[in-house]
Amino acid sequence: MSNSQQQHADTIIVGGGVAALWTANVLKKAGQSVCVLTNGPLGDGQSLAAQGVIHGGLKYAVGGKLNEASQALAHMPTRWLDALDGKGPVDLSKAELLSDHQILWSLPSVFSQIVSFFGSKAVRGRCSIIKREEYPSVFDSPEYKGQLFRIEEPVVDPVSILSELAAGVAEETWEVEWGKNSRLEFNDNQISGIILTDPGHSMTRLTANHFVLAAGSGNGPIMEALGWSKPQMQIRPLHQLIIRDKNLPDFYSVCVGNGSKPPLVSTTHTDRAGRKVWYIGGEIAEQRGVSRSEDEQIEAGKSLFKELMPWQDLSAAEWFTCRSQRAEPLTGTGDRPPGAFCERKGNTFIVWPTKFALAPNLADQILSQTSAESDLDPIDLSLPRPKLGIPPWDIQ
Ligand SMILES: Cc1cc2nc3c(=O)[nH]c(=O)nc-3n(C[C@H](O)[C@H](O)[C@H](O)COP(=O)(O)OP(=O)(O)OC[C@H]3O[C@@H](n4cnc5c(N)ncnc54)[C@H](O)[C@@H]3O)c2cc1C
Repeated sequence: MSNSQQQHADTIIVGGGVAALWTANVLKKAGQSVCVLTNGPLGDGQSLAAQGVIHGGLKYAVGGKLNEASQALAHMPTRWLDALDGKGPVDLSKAELLSDHQILWSLPSVFSQIVSFFGSKAVRGRCSIIKREEYPSVFDSPEYKGQLFRIEEPVVDPVSILSELAAGVAEETWEVEWGKNSRLEFNDNQISGIILTDPGHSMTRLTANHFVLAAGSGNGPIMEALGWSKPQMQIRPLHQLIIRDKNLPDFYSVCVGNGSKPPLVSTTHTDRAGRKVWYIGGEIAEQRGVSRSEDEQIEAGKSLFKELMPWQDLSAAEWFTCRSQRAEPLTGTGDRPPGAFCERKGNTFIVWPTKFALAPNLADQILSQTSAESDLDPIDLSLPRPKLGIPPWDIQ
């Protein structure tokens, strides 16, 4: 540990999720001296609760409009697949790709609409019809009368992604306890530094050319302390379903219904005991789902599966729910903003990627507005190192 009372970094990042860690890896690779400060286990909050779908925007294109959200996401699958191949600024070659595609299926009421849209030229190359004889086992039933499409949107394992991102900046990441061993220092409504007190009561003042607030829902209180009323944050609670059974088949899918939101989005994970887990989001996990108790949500989930996939015998499965919340900039409509959000106020960036998938886009935005100052010593603090958090399917 350096005895210096003052240390200076190019960029200090507050947070410990996919936004903070992806950005830190990119800035470090560009030669910046970076420092990541988190107040809890890495990935706690939204990142380890994510389903890991690397959206390419196709589900937002249902209805024939390749809208703003869809355009912003279009390059993300390639960016992630490159990282998983060890290409590009972030090396995720040891992280797990759960599936290189998702299955798109639909409610009977929209069977024909789906075929005309997803079979159309507008989306060619991003999705294709799956032949009946190639249906994955989860749909291999005469009771499913619709068409299945393969969409080129990969699904990654959030746990190994977070673990690899953390490994890339392990030397630059520390855990702080605000109010105990650390505090933000403000001057003229700007962050001027971070004051750290070590167990021996000596003080270090940490300064930087830039600060990035990538603390998810934690950005709100920091902005409040700074006296910033904008950008405003919105919190959208979710109530996801977890279905566990050692014999579940793979089920990476998005179901299209009549509304703008898919009734169900499914991913498959393996828990620490080696059991398969279906992790279910989509409309079932939103507003009405949030107002339900855990038992009511499980009942609603069972009814939905009975209606949509009556051929699936889930009688031996264990059902759980998990509550989480998305933290995003306020859109006024309650909808999700189209791209990664990054607003600069003086020396500070306030960021919400709005999607796990958009972390590369967010890091690009920060990299283009920051640079490496030559000859900075690496930051060296006597603070503890954070652990990796636990995904929802390992909490039950
Ligand atoms: C149930 C669910 C499913 C999702 N599924 C998908 C999906 O399939 N695909 C997709 O693209 N997106 C998905 N998302 C969205 C995605 O998870 C988020 O957009 C993304 O993870 C946000 O990352 P983040 O790093 O900004 O925030 P978080 O992951 O919330 O990280 C914030 C971090 O900051 C730390 N922190 C908080 N306060 C402070 C503070 N004061 N000081 C220091 N550190 C602090 C926390 O400990 C945490 O480590 C999903 C979200 C949810 C909730």
